[in-house]
Amino acid sequence: MQHKNFKNIDKVVFGRGAFNMLDEIIAPIRKENKNYFVFVVDKYFEGKELSKRIPAKPEDIVLFEDVDQHEPTTEQIDNLRDRILKEKGLPSGLIGIGGGSIMDIAKAVALMLTNEGSSTLYQGLNLIKKPGVYHLGIPTISGTGAECSSTAVLTGPVKKLGLKCEWTVFNQVILDPELIKSVPDDWWFNTGMDTYIHCIESENGTLNNAFSHAYAEQSLSLCREVFLGSNSGRSEVNDDKLMVASLMGGLSLSYSEVGVCHALSYGLSKILDYRHCYANCVAFQHLDDVYTDGVKEFKQMLVKHKIVLPQNLSKTWSDETITKMAEVAYNLPHMWHQAYGDSWKEKVNIASIKELYKRM
Ligand code: NAD
Ligand code: ZN
Repeated sequence: MQHKNFKNIDKVVFGRGAFNMLDEIIAPIRKENKNYFVFVVDKYFEGKELSKRIPAKPEDIVLFEDVDQHEPTTEQIDNLRDRILKEKGLPSGLIGIGGGSIMDIAKAVALMLTNEGSSTLYQGLNLIKKPGVYHLGIPTISGTGAECSSTAVLTGPVKKLGLKCEWTVFNQVILDPELIKSVPDDWWFNTGMDTYIHCIESENGTLNNAFSHAYAEQSLSLCREVFLGSNSGRSEVNDDKLMVASLMGGLSLSYSEVGVCHALSYGLSKILDYRHCYANCVAFQHLDDVYTDGVKEFKQMLVKHKIVLPQNLSKTWSDETITKMAEVAYNLPHMWHQAYGDSWKEKVNIASIKELYKRM
């Protein structure tokens, strides 16, 4: 039996105001390579108070990336890498300040700075040949677990698939719950639900074990306090909890796997450009036969936060579109294996996946 030999984040600091430690944390790393840092920051923060607190030195590069147009693409990563190397050579490291999109961009560029050719060559497991440069992640929205995962999810011309290897994992993460206060309510809910769904899929799958269960159980308990309990909703206490829940949901997946909802979600993202966390919510509501208790509780959370998800979407999709989404989903065997075990092919095929999309 082959067990996963999981690489964790090297260092994590958690707490309100922890962002202020960034300068001192990266100071010793500035000796590496061409002695400068690249800050990749969500464009939302351009001109805002946080951008003034970024400890950039004159030699550093600060890039404000717009994550609203699309999820990170292989082309975007290749262009950023080429631009950075052309401008100043190999940096000491990269800092990603933003949500899952920015953290994935930072992770991917850090790897691609030392690996030649297009990032499309490396979409998959352990295809990256050399360690990248030092990279540090600072989440500003909580839920995806991208802060601790060993993958940087990229949409390429052919696949939506991550650069997955142990070098992808951040060297350092700064968890400062003050940073998620400004997240709009709909993103707060959808991205938070990514954590909830990670845990439900991790728990209800063949790879679940004592390690993944322990993290998922704690993360679910925090999610329930944040999204369902008598003190649920937006507050400082709940922001602290959600940030930890996101990390623990991600850690649960490190020894387990996502399942049916994420497979469907990838199809929605690749073919229809739906955002990951929103796509999960759109799909998850219809999976009551697969994740009965989870979907029931999810629907209570929807009601509590007055979230209305679209219905009858599939009526507007052509058969060709549904087939294409089903093909994307079918080509994620690890997720179907997680949900149904070794004999998943006896239960799942393109036609059965199309039926799941037709529920939406
Ligand atoms: P995001 O980074 O896509 O950002 C969502 C929105 O929130 C954007 O409009 C952004 O500008 C805004 N935002 C972020 N922080 C804010 C703040 N503090 N105040 C105001 N607005 C803020 O969000 P996400 O849901 O965290 O990330 C989704 C991405 O993560 C997808 O590309 C998905 O593929 C990826 N993902 C990666 C992993 C992984 O393990 N690597 C796991 C799940 C999802
Ligand atoms: Zn997810």
